[in-house]
Amino acid sequence: MTGRVAVLEAYGGDFELREYPVPDPEPGAVLVRLTRAGVCGSDLHIWRGEMKAVYGAVPADLTFGHEMCGRVERLGAGVTVDSAGQPLREGDRVTFVYFFPCGRCPVCLRDEMGSCPRKGRANRVAGTPPYFNNAFGDYYYLRPGGWVFRVPDEVSDDVVTPANCALAQVVYGLARAGLRPGDTLVVQGAGGLGLNAVAIARDMGADRVVVLDRMASRLELARAFGADHALSLDELPTPERRIEAVQELTGGFGADVVADFVGYPDVVPEGLRMLRGGGCYLEVGSIAPGNVFSYDATALVRASARLVAVSNYSPWALARALAFLRRNLRRFPFERLVSHVFPLARIGEAFRQAEWMQRSGDGLRVSRAALSMAD
Ligand SMILES: [Zn+2]
Ligand SMILES: [Zn+2]
Repeated sequence: MTGRVAVLEAYGGDFELREYPVPDPEPGAVLVRLTRAGVCGSDLHIWRGEMKAVYGAVPADLTFGHEMCGRVERLGAGVTVDSAGQPLREGDRVTFVYFFPCGRCPVCLRDEMGSCPRKGRANRVAGTPPYFNNAFGDYYYLRPGGWVFRVPDEVSDDVVTPANCALAQVVYGLARAGLRPGDTLVVQGAGGLGLNAVAIARDMGADRVVVLDRMASRLELARAFGADHALSLDELPTPERRIEAVQELTGGFGADVVADFVGYPDVVPEGLRMLRGGGCYLEVGSIAPGNVFSYDATALVRASARLVAVSNYSPWALARALAFLRRNLRRFPFERLVSHVFPLARIGEAFRQAEWMQRSGDGLRVSRAALSMAD
């Protein structure tokens, strides 16, 4: 039996589908037949060639992708339950953590597994056994010790696809930022991450959620995801106006938590100035190298500001993300977060479409493309 793996041919270009033998899972491993993969913002960075420093001037046998879900194809010996202790059987729908904290270091011990300095990552050189190490293929080989969770029956593949990246990261980030019931949250950027943050903050008991974005339709979507105030950058064209607006909405005190899901460095100083004294700034959006901002350190001290930046998450966040989805399926329009689904064979088109939507700022929908392995 063989399965397909998508290999990038040229930055900004197309993919070649290569066939590799499907391995038998070793004891403790899980072989997953993938059903969906998402095209994440960081995948677009790789595709464009913005990570050449890591992957080389030309993409040599480069395969990637990390947002995904699927069904258990085969369980390695000894695997009988998922990471939450629920029985796990072949055919069960699952999501899983796509990186591998060591679990045996001072950072993991502090429950900050996303920052583990010995964290294992997927091998992105196509043809490296066990061959299925990334999301853009027919299978995924979850190595022994990987965290895996059964997906609740009510939660569809489309809705659960971003759970192991975007959603878990936001759940983890807002928890690390210390968002509490009754708090005010400002969300910079109403893309996939920002919209999830609005809904999660609502679920966590935030009293007031303010969203900033340029596109009217994304602001409309932010309201559908529970935002109290969706502020347009067109109507508030300067940082001063936007900071003033947040001050007005918070009785002049500023927000408890401000979170960046934009990834453009100018939003950071602006967001810091929206904080109340002792408030927390959460940085999630910056993932490409070179996002430099400058800020007066004395102003940080005077405001007793807290800065929290998160990359990845601790595995509990994925379990909580699934529970969040199940609990809120009817409350928020999660199905609107995926804009286009392409078959794996048309992966190049999926990237071009996602890129075009991001560049042209097509405000009609959120620019999240997904791949389906079934058709
Ligand atoms: Zn991602
Ligand atoms: Zn560790």
